[in-house]
Amino acid sequence: MGDEINEEDISNLEYFIIPGVDVPSSLKAKEFSLTYPEKSYWSAGLHPHEADSLEDIKNELQVLMEEADLIGETGLDYYRNLSSKENQIKNFEFHLDVSKELNKPLIIHCRDSFSDVFDTLSSRDTTNPIILHSWTGGNKWTKKFIELGVYFSISGIVTYDTAHDLQAAVKKIPIDKILLETDVPYLAPQPFKGKRNNPTYIKFTGVKLAELLGIAPNELSKITITNTNKVMNREA
Ligand SMILES: [Zn+2]
Repeated sequence: MGDEINEEDISNLEYFIIPGVDVPSSLKAKEFSLTYPEKSYWSAGLHPHEADSLEDIKNELQVLMEEADLIGETGLDYYRNLSSKENQIKNFEFHLDVSKELNKPLIIHCRDSFSDVFDTLSSRDTTNPIILHSWTGGNKWTKKFIELGVYFSISGIVTYDTAHDLQAAVKKIPIDKILLETDVPYLAPQPFKGKRNNPTYIKFTGVKLAELLGIAPNELSKITITNTNKVMNREA
């Protein structure tokens, strides 16, 4: 994605996070982040889709994880099941262990896998910040994950007409645990649903979420920047 983003796209952002999903994309995230050292962070991880390849790339990935600002994205995806469940869980546990050891925030992808993500997380005594990226859970799972003290990162999905359960659930999340994300190039918010996403579109997700929470968009912006500063251990 890096080479398709320009200055204008990020001018309304305080700063942003570029996630990796395998070794090549983590390297690319690092490279791109170096272009905007004051304004960006990068992560190194292996997506659940690629979990079958963990043993082959583990050493290379671990070196990158030591350099990266965050770990992930990792997690479990039982919607597409592109790697075996067993390997996805092994991969997820590896990321959990490394992120705790390095004390870095962990980015988790959770699709059709609430129960196993919850059980895996609960079985570990995590002390580093945990981010559930592009959260889609309804009231039941949101309530359960709130008890784990995790951060819920809200993407463009919240703007979709079909997202009733999520729209109800976001109101239950403690305000100091809410983050905003784009998931560029995916999940463009309304009115761009189905098109290529862009960092500037974060405002559409922010406006919708603020409306649901009954606060002003600027207030939500301040809150999510403060929350992200806390995750990143960054001075305001
Ligand atoms: Zn994801």
